[in-house]
Amino acid sequence: MSFFFRKLIRYYRYSIDKNLNIEEAYQQSFLAGFFSFIGSLITFFTAINSLFIQLYSLAISLFLVSGLLLLTFYILKSSLYSHYHNFSRCMAIIALYILGFYLIYAGGIKNSGPLWIYIIPSVTFAFLGLKQGIIANATFSVIASLMLFYPNDLFLATTYSYEFKTRLIYVFLTIVALSGFYEAARHYSFMRLKFMKEKYEHQAQFDYLTLLPNRRGIQKILNKEYQQIKLTHHVSTIATLDIDRFKVINDEFGHEVGDMVLKHTSKVLSDCIRSQDSLARWGGEEFLLLLPDTREADAIELLESIRERVEKTPFEHNTISISITLSVGLCETSPEVDFNDAIRFSDISLYQAKQAGRNTVFAYTPEL
Ligand code: GH3
Ligand code: MG
Ligand code: MG
Repeated sequence: MSFFFRKLIRYYRYSIDKNLNIEEAYQQSFLAGFFSFIGSLITFFTAINSLFIQLYSLAISLFLVSGLLLLTFYILKSSLYSHYHNFSRCMAIIALYILGFYLIYAGGIKNSGPLWIYIIPSVTFAFLGLKQGIIANATFSVIASLMLFYPNDLFLATTYSYEFKTRLIYVFLTIVALSGFYEAARHYSFMRLKFMKEKYEHQAQFDYLTLLPNRRGIQKILNKEYQQIKLTHHVSTIATLDIDRFKVINDEFGHEVGDMVLKHTSKVLSDCIRSQDSLARWGGEEFLLLLPDTREADAIELLESIRERVEKTPFEHNTISISITLSVGLCETSPEVDFNDAIRFSDISLYQAKQAGRNTVFAYTPEL
C-alpha cells in the first residue's frame, strides 16, 4: 500500500516538474486531484463497512461520493479536460457537503458520523482557494448550525446532546479559521514565489543599464522569427551596430559617462526603429537589430537613416557634448541561412565597416 502511495506521489510530482507550471489554478487542481483520490479511497472503504453493518442508505451515499471523487480525480489529472477543472472541483465539494449534511442528519454509526465534517474546511480551501473557500465554509457552517439547533430537531433523524452539538460547531469553526490562515499563508508564499520568478526571469533576459533585451532575451525573438521565415519564406535582415571608438569616451570622460552614452544611444536607436523591429544589447557597446520582413536594400536605407540620426544627436550632459557614431554590418536572411550564421555574417560586415573608416553601413556579400 505504501509503495502504491509513494508511486502516486512521485507520478504527481513528476507531472508538476514536467510542466513547471506555476499557475495557482494548476496547483489547486493538482492538490484537489490528490485529495479526491484519497477521499475516494476512504469513502469507498467506509461504504463497504456501512454495508457490513447494514446501514444501506449511508453505504449508497458513500459509494456515490466515492465514485464522484474518483471521477473528479480522473478529470483533474488530465490536462485534456482542463476546462472542466473548475466545474469538477465544485462538483466534488458539493458531493462532500451533501455527505456532511447527511451524516449530521442521520448520525451514522452510533452518532459518530458528524465527526467527518472536520475534513471539510481544509479540503474546501484546497479545492476552491481562499476567497471561495471562505464563502463555501461559511455556507456549510450556517446550514449545519441550522440543522443542529433548529427547534424540535426538525432536520435531524437522530438525537445529539446539546454539548455534542455546540462542541461539534466550535471545533468545526476553529478548524475553518486555522485552515483559512494556512491557506492565506500558502497563497502569500505562492505569490511571492511567482513574483520572484518573474523578477529573476526579467533580470535574466533584460539589460539593467539600457533596459533592452540582452543576448538571452533576443534569442527567443530570433528563434520565433526564424520559425516564421521557414513557414512564410519571407526575408528578414539582421544588423549589428557598434559604437565607434567607445573606449576613447570611457577613457576621456570616465566609465559613468560611458554608461550614460550607452543609455542615450539605446534611446535614440529605440526611437528610430519601427514597431515590428527588435533591438537588443548584444554586448558591451554593440547592439543587434532584427528587421523582420525587410530586404537588404530597404534595410540599408533604414540603417543609414538610423546611423545619421545617431550622428546628429550628440550626448549632452552638463557642459559636455559627445558626438557618437555607429558602424553597422548587416546580413539578409532566408530559410536557408541559419540565424547564427546571419549574425556571424553581419559581424563580418561590421568588421569591414570599421576597416573602411567607421560611421558607415556595410551589407554582407559572400565574397567579403
Ligand atoms: P571600435 O570603434 O573598433 O568599436 O572601438 P571601441 O573602442 O568602440 O571598441 P573596443 O572593443 O576597443 O572597446 C569597447 C569598450 O567598451 C571597452 C569596454 O570597457 C567598454 N564597455 C563595454 N561595456 C561597457 C559598459 O557597460 N559601460 C561602459 N562604460 N563601458 C563599457
Ligand atoms: Mg566599438
Ligand atoms: Mg564592440
